[in-house]
Amino acid sequence: MLDTDSLIKLLAQPQKIVITTHHKPDGDAMGSSLGLYHYLIQQGHHVKVITPTDYPEFLFWLPGNGEVIIYTENVTQSAELIANADIIFCLDFNALNRINEMGELVGASSAFKVMIDHHLEPQDFDDYRYWDINACATAQLIYTFITEELHNKKFINKDVATCLYTGIMTDSASFSLPKTTSGVHRIIADLIDAGAVNWQIHELMYKNSSENRLRFLGICLTERLEVLYEYNTAIIAVPKADLEKYDVITGDTEGIVNYALSIAGIKLAAFIVERNDKVKLSLRSKGEFPANEICKKYFEGGGHRNAAGGVSTDSLEQVVNQFKLILPEYKKLLMQ
Ligand code: 5GP
Ligand code: MN
Repeated sequence: MLDTDSLIKLLAQPQKIVITTHHKPDGDAMGSSLGLYHYLIQQGHHVKVITPTDYPEFLFWLPGNGEVIIYTENVTQSAELIANADIIFCLDFNALNRINEMGELVGASSAFKVMIDHHLEPQDFDDYRYWDINACATAQLIYTFITEELHNKKFINKDVATCLYTGIMTDSASFSLPKTTSGVHRIIADLIDAGAVNWQIHELMYKNSSENRLRFLGICLTERLEVLYEYNTAIIAVPKADLEKYDVITGDTEGIVNYALSIAGIKLAAFIVERNDKVKLSLRSKGEFPANEICKKYFEGGGHRNAAGGVSTDSLEQVVNQFKLILPEYKKLLMQ
């Protein structure tokens, strides 16, 4: 393990740095990665952000997006960068299987691995860990890592601030989830002071849908929503045909699960979607209900208590039935 002083010494000289994050990166994954990128390039480091897969178009406006390398589209270049890196920052994930085939390359690289993350149960593959499950977003940890560990608040410029604001905003569901403490709001205030234009970021992220996406959302709510009041649970199950009909692209399904959770009294919501080779589940819950436990136990996944995900190789119908059969086990918690 590397201590903070050794990491600070290492970062005092220009290094070859790779920043990576989990597959199908979300706002926090990209906001953290690009926020750290904009911090590190000010120190003269040679920095590359490599994502294991593509990510939603609604994140393309983030400053520095044009510099991002997508592993699946640049395998050779990515493998070389990972093998030759001095330091690899692993952001917003804590197990190598979250970065798909890149996991083996990162594991095999002799680079120092720095994990900055807020998920449960980290795997031991890192040399330095800045980890806190109480953080509402990894972007929050990037902010405190720069300001409190590296003592470099002066380097939080407009680009860093814009990216970190986006990460905190998306992972906290616009500052609405329980981990959005007064401390988080103080960080947000600092980020606005540093140049993040809050109203513009909200507009870019939430008032920027395609017409198709909105029509798809309409179908999800009118045709695919099933409410099980006897379990305070709502399910939106989407067949592949719907995705094709509305030209649904990466990111279009993001957040739809929250509409199901927004019904009064509903404690657990599931968005279950049939992808090409698998069925993907996104679970959201209110209060103490452990959505991550269901994903971990039954769907090869995990996540946070109130936001978790998993997958299955069964058919959509089978997965929906399996999910319904799990509910009696949790009836007491759901009906509290
Ligand atoms: P989403 O529903 O947005 O795909 O995922 C919500 C959260 O659940 C993510 O932030 C991530 O922490 C977690 N998550 C989603 N899918 C998986 C998965 O397949 N495995 C694990 N371990 N966590 C997941
Ligand atoms: Mn996160």
